Formats: sequence, structure tokens, C-alpha cells
Amino acid sequence: MTQTASQKIDQYIMTTYGRQPVCFVRGQGMRLWDQAGKEYLDFLAGIAVTALGHADPAVSQAVCNQALKLNHVSNLYYTEPQARVAEILVQNSFADRVFFCNSGAEANEGALKLTRLWGKRHLNGAYGVITMYGSFHGRTMKTLSATGQEKVQKGFEPLAAGFTHVAYGDLAALDQAWDDNTCAVLLEPVLGEGGVILPPEGYLAGVRELCTQRGALLIYDEIQTGLGRTGKLFAYEHSEVAPDIMTLAKALANGLPAGAVCAKEEAAELFIPGTHGTTFGAGPVTMEAARVVLETLTQPGFMERAEGTGIYFLEKLKLLAREHPDKIAQVRGLGLMLGLELKGLGAPLVGQLLQRGFVVNCTQDKVLRFLPPLIVMQEHIDALVEALDQALATWTPETA
Ligand SMILES: *Cc1c(COP(=O)(O)O)cnc(C)c1O
Repeated sequence: MTQTASQKIDQYIMTTYGRQPVCFVRGQGMRLWDQAGKEYLDFLAGIAVTALGHADPAVSQAVCNQALKLNHVSNLYYTEPQARVAEILVQNSFADRVFFCNSGAEANEGALKLTRLWGKRHLNGAYGVITMYGSFHGRTMKTLSATGQEKVQKGFEPLAAGFTHVAYGDLAALDQAWDDNTCAVLLEPVLGEGGVILPPEGYLAGVRELCTQRGALLIYDEIQTGLGRTGKLFAYEHSEVAPDIMTLAKALANGLPAGAVCAKEEAAELFIPGTHGTTFGAGPVTMEAARVVLETLTQPGFMERAEGTGIYFLEKLKLLAREHPDKIAQVRGLGLMLGLELKGLGAPLVGQLLQRGFVVNCTQDKVLRFLPPLIVMQEHIDALVEALDQALATWTPETA
């Protein structure tokens, strides 16, 4: 008997994921199809990856054209696609320079390497980085050490040196944890894996002030919040302050592996030839996908539309919460990054919704997380909320 894809994967691939019982074979815009031809609406988009939707025609065309033209040469040489992508990122952000890589963790590694150089140059060799409880920064040894979640770190001790964790949103705790060895603060402008947690009013400005006063780098991990997810091109635009360094990945190339470290000149200049690098980063095919993503996101009106859709989505979820006060603890979000906190475990609801043809995610056991493509429309949201309403009718908050 021939094995199915799921049987082969369960046998041959290391079990780092608990997978849902579905094998997707095709996607288009908001929609996905499985092997049996069943259709789904995708409210996860990878995990905030396919921001323009699945198989976006312009992205796919650019990728095919470039793949037939030039796939790879080393970064020892100049290539055209990365030039344009870097230009768009710099012209549309606080950053002066960009370093491209292949993933979020790798982008954070690059930013953390810059903190070491910064500490040596400006702060007597200080190398301490303060990060947040509930954060997520990646799975490499250094980025899992930066991550403020025990479940990510457990078993991998000894952790990388130099990280101190404090409560997210607590300026006094940050001030208290600061010492002579502190050279940087790394945080997400909205906690993603941590449960879609927004910082209190004025917090980010306060962190900026502490970093500026003390000469430390402020690094925003915008791997999830960036590139239109929160209703602005970058989440830092919601407050009046910008970081010194920002990391990007997830949506950058609409599903092809791409990450970026975006930095002000004072930090960027610390990298010189030989201090950092990547074989695959900024490859022509990936950069062509990223070019289309960025050109689309920066079109007049694109972000405003997505921001408006996010407001509509949040309103609908708030109405739903009012209908189910015994089951829903809170709804929150920014732009199209939304969380619905349940009064019990979310996994059964995720399964129920999948059966009904909706892809959603649950993080921190109880928070249903919605990160749809930015092209999502009100009718898709209406359909999801109705399915969720029905699924909630048979769901009870069991205690964990
Ligand atoms: C996903 C994510 C990462 C890790 O990105 P990878 O590409 O999986 O390495 C880091 N930080 C945040 C905020 C993320 O959401």
C-alpha cells in the first residue's frame, strides 16, 4: 500500500510540529485547497507570511521570470533585485541601511551581533540585552535565549550569555533590570506568539527615552508586526518613536525565505567586510518576490484599506465576545493582527474551525490568533465570525 504524504512526514521528518490533519495542495488569495479538493479560508497566512495572499499573480510572475534569468550569485557581486528592495525599505522607514538574510531568527542574530559591536565601540564592552517575558525571537541558541518563554528554552541549557528578561509593558521593571552591562533592549511592538499583547500607552516612548539617555540600542523585532500586519507598514509608526534597529522576515517575500536587519547608520556602520554574511540571503529570486510585496504595500491606499479591514474585524469580534461572555475573556488587536482570548483551551475550536473550512491558530493555549492575508475582505470575516459563533455554541471552557 502506498503511503500518504502525512504518513511519510510522520515517519521521515523530525517531529518538531504537532500538525493538523490536513495536507494542502493549492492556494489562491484567501483560499486553500486540500488533497480532497475541500476549500478553506486562510486566517493564518502561514504565520503572518503570505500577506498578499496565496499564489499572488504578480509575485509568482516575478519569481518565475527571475528564476529563468538568474537564480544565484554570491554576495561578493552586485545584483539588481536586492538594490531595489533595499531602496524601498530605506525610503519607507527610519533605517539607513539593510542587511538581508533568510529568516526571522537569522535577522535577530544579525541584530544581536550588532549589539556586541555597539557595546565594544560605545559602552566599555557591555553586552547585556534586556528582552521581555512572553516574547518570541526565534529558535537558534542565541534567539531562544533572548526569547522570554521557558517552553522554548527548556532542555537547551546552558543558554547564551547576556540576556535579562523583564515584564512586557513595565517601564519600572526595565529601569530596575538595567545595569552597567546593558547595551540594548530588544522587544516586539506587539507580542505575537505571546498572545497578541499590546503595550500600554506611552510604554514604547518610555523605552526609547531610556535607551537614548543611556546610549543603548533599541531593537524592534517586527518580524510578525512589520510589513503591514498592524495597519501601518511598520508597527513603530503607531507611536511617535522609532527604534535604532528593526528586524523583518515573515511577510517580506510572501512565503519565500527572506529576512532583513534594518538599521540607522550609527549601528549599520559597525558591520564591515568579513564581520557578517550569508550565502543565500538577498538572492535574486527571493528579492524579486520582496520587491513586488513592498511595491504593493506602498501603493497609495493599500495600507489604509487593510487598516480599515482590521478595524471592522475587531468590531465583529467584540460583538461576538458580547454574545459569549461566559466563553470569551477578551478580544484585542492592531490592524490585521488579532487575538481572541478564550476562558478555556483553544485547540478544540481550532479543530472545529478547520472542519468548517477555516484555518486559524491558537497561541498560549487560550488565544485564537487571526493573521489573515492583508487582502482579506469583509465577507471573509463575516463568514469566519459566523463559523466561530456556531463552533462556540458546542464548546465549553474546560479548565487546563
Ligand atoms: C516568527 C518570529 C520569529 C522567528 O522567525 P523564523 O523565520 O521562524 O526564524 C522571530 N520573532 C518574531 C516576533 C516572530 O514572530
